[in-house]
Amino acid sequence: MAGGKLIVFSAPSGSGKTTIVRHLLEIPALNLDFSISATSREPREHEIDGEDYYFISTEKFKSHIKNGDFLEWEEVYRDNFYGTLKTEIERIWAKGKNVIFDIDVVGGLRIKKKYPEETLAVFVKPPSVDELKIRLKKRKTESEEKINMRIAKASVEMATAPQFDYIIENDKLENAFKEAEQLVMQHISEKKRENEEE
Ligand code: 5GP
Repeated sequence: MAGGKLIVFSAPSGSGKTTIVRHLLEIPALNLDFSISATSREPREHEIDGEDYYFISTEKFKSHIKNGDFLEWEEVYRDNFYGTLKTEIERIWAKGKNVIFDIDVVGGLRIKKKYPEETLAVFVKPPSVDELKIRLKKRKTESEEKINMRIAKASVEMATAPQFDYIIENDKLENAFKEAEQLVMQHISEKKRENEEE
């Protein structure tokens, strides 16, 4: 596969990683394209199929698993499957772009393990689990039960932070944006230098 870079942003739900990833995608110099995951969960009101996710049935998801189509996949929450199709990376690298992922901690670390040289793995840390709860409630995209499920998982997810290349504290969004921009720019420049030496 043509040699773009992989940039993983992982974090507990509600930590603001999607906002950071969306911000980075707006910066042309970073040459990023978003890895669109497949999921069996229902689309939220504003979400677009083929842009935010490929929304597919559980049955179709399971047939992709069987066919070995996923680079990684997880049942992130019970009965909610999420996965990165191998074709996503091929699609983006073929365009000469770097891939940015917004995925859960297990999936993120799996990608890092599969592509250790190419991958920058960043963990976005929310100020606290209480703050997460406030943000998820404010977002109003999940039921009380689903919010509790996400909160229960957050502590387990927080414990994986040291396994990432970097941890960004998302206390103030402006600072988190700047830090993320610098990290990605640095990672991409490393590639440029290597190419120049060839
Ligand atoms: P949400 O339902 O809030 O969009 O996503 C729930 C969680 O699943 C988030 O942590 C999100 O980053 C993660 N996720 C999204 N796509 C993937 C994927 O392809 N693989 C894995 N492992 N997790 C994903």
